[in-house]
Amino acid sequence: MTDVSPAADVTYPADGSALFSDRSVVALRVNGDLKDLSTVVTADDAVEPVLVDSADGLSILRHSTAHVMAQAVQRIKPQSNLGIGPPITDGFYFDFGNVDPFTPEDLKAIKKEMERIVRENQRFVRRVVDETEARELMAGEPFKLELISLAGGPGSGANAAEGASAEIGAGELTVYENVNREGEVVWRDLCRGPHVPGTRYVANGWDLTRVAGAYWRGSEKNPQLQRIYGTAWPTKDELRAYQQRLEEAAKRDHRKLGKELDLFSFPDEIGPGLSVFHPKGGIIRYEIERYMRERLLASGYEVVNTPHITKGDLFMTSGHLQWYADGMYPPMVLDEVVDADGHVSREGQEYYLKPMNCPFHNLIFRSRGRSYRELPLRLSEFGSVYRYEKSGTLSGLTRVRGMTQDDTHIYVTADQVKGELTHSLDFVLQTLRDYGLNDFYLELSTKEDGNPKFIGADELWTEATETLREVAEASGLELVPDPGGAAFYGPKISVQARDAIGRTWQMSTIQLDFNQPERFELEYTGPDGEKHRPVMIHRALFGSVERFFAILLEHYAGAFPVWLAPVQVVGIPVADDFAPYLDEIVARLRAAGVRAEVDHSDDRMPKKIRTHTTQKVPLQLIAGEQDRSGGTVSFRFRDGSQTNGIPVDEAIDKIVAAISGKLLVNTAEDLA
Ligand SMILES: [Zn+2]
Ligand SMILES: [Zn+2]
Repeated sequence: MTDVSPAADVTYPADGSALFSDRSVVALRVNGDLKDLSTVVTADDAVEPVLVDSADGLSILRHSTAHVMAQAVQRIKPQSNLGIGPPITDGFYFDFGNVDPFTPEDLKAIKKEMERIVRENQRFVRRVVDETEARELMAGEPFKLELISLAGGPGSGANAAEGASAEIGAGELTVYENVNREGEVVWRDLCRGPHVPGTRYVANGWDLTRVAGAYWRGSEKNPQLQRIYGTAWPTKDELRAYQQRLEEAAKRDHRKLGKELDLFSFPDEIGPGLSVFHPKGGIIRYEIERYMRERLLASGYEVVNTPHITKGDLFMTSGHLQWYADGMYPPMVLDEVVDADGHVSREGQEYYLKPMNCPFHNLIFRSRGRSYRELPLRLSEFGSVYRYEKSGTLSGLTRVRGMTQDDTHIYVTADQVKGELTHSLDFVLQTLRDYGLNDFYLELSTKEDGNPKFIGADELWTEATETLREVAEASGLELVPDPGGAAFYGPKISVQARDAIGRTWQMSTIQLDFNQPERFELEYTGPDGEKHRPVMIHRALFGSVERFFAILLEHYAGAFPVWLAPVQVVGIPVADDFAPYLDEIVARLRAAGVRAEVDHSDDRMPKKIRTHTTQKVPLQLIAGEQDRSGGTVSFRFRDGSQTNGIPVDEAIDKIVAAISGKLLVNTAEDLA
């Protein structure tokens, strides 16, 4: 990132462009608030430049590009109405009403028009307006008029509509006007801003990516709108790099690989968001879980097991029915007794599928008296949970309705919190490394001051947050703040992992909870003979097994390390004659616990090699006359390289060592 200092010889009051002449400065942060570069400041203001390649700068660039696009759409389709158009990760979108779905030809024309608007270098000019004036200026825009009505009333600001915080902020109403070189206003939108100074700043690092339907304010009861998505970057090179990342990501898409490698599916007969794992996916999943269990037992965790459904009362106690009911499947009413006349003689009980495991573990803790000597008590379960996600948000294995969490709840004394958090973070990082993820940073999610959603005393939050911060800092990893991102019951650290192509995934979370021990009245007897309340730590390493599976599948692009590969070794005879020789070797490998098979199909050798290379089998063993007479085999690797004439005993040792060492073997050197 560029370092930009304010000009030394400025006379105040001055506007941002007098302070910062560098073109990479697109806006200002004045006394903490984002402002247009044209904002006039005094010597008393704390002013920082906002660079185009910073997170704020990119959002401003992207939202400005969205305005350019919206203007272009309205030039081409003057009857279209403006919805909302916020910046999103890597880009932006804008919704339009009163318009047919956009065609590829429309997009082409819109892009042409956008280029024209960029060349015209219109200025973005902020104008503070009162409600009457806002209504006059946006008279032809019914959706904007609706937002103006909402701005004053309940649900104003960020809550007014999905993404509408880009249009109206808390406080004053503003309109951004596009002013051309002749000083004429050529377009305007209700918008809180800020924006880049002019359309020229949008330059050429943008593209329109796709179209979709959307509902006004996210509700199916409202009018259907047409959405255009785009991406925007400071330079054309950055745009190209982004497009390449997308192509690479598409190749690795776990939904595509899941089909190609026959790993899992989502049968219609079962329902959306509910996956089935096929034998090859099943064995990968088994290995992922097996290793995790091994690690848990070696690190002082205890294994428990709980059912998938429960009476609703349990989730009243935990608070889930009060705070989380939208994310739960509706109840089933069971055990109702109806007499011969059709009268209910005994009311039924409401049962729920569980969305979380924690309440069950609390019951295990509470099942008998606990002593301080038992703490930390670490209860761990591969617990299947069900969450009623909206069908539109479901996505492959990463967003599902049924999943299995590797869920651990740790009960500690107040004195043990810090040590246990350190233990948990070490455990998480070391285990993730064993699965082949090793590029991490941490995120610290804290409460938003004054938001009543976060329950519990402020002192508790402050203390817990500070403890998490200390533990996170001690890890030496980069720590990124996530203000307002905490769960309602406590702050958390999450481990973010970067995968092989630089994407970040939220992996594990370690969460403090001082709410549930209270609600469940959990107690232990201290050394003083008195009852004390334990602190609870929620810790999930995978998030869910399904999601972790998808992340590993994409990280490795299906070419798993040997220990995770569904088929680890495949024997390929040069001709049928040599199949019995390979059968013997494969039998020995199987006896050593290796997933090995011989390809007995009618295909010729080159075809067999192609098949198993496509299936990403790490080790192909090839044998012909020379190998058989010499008691050797030849290895062929994923990259096509080969090592010939390895004595069978040595070959078996190497394979077994590659599995136990969790080696990623793609080339001959990897097994050298
Ligand atoms: Zn805007
Ligand atoms: Zn939990």
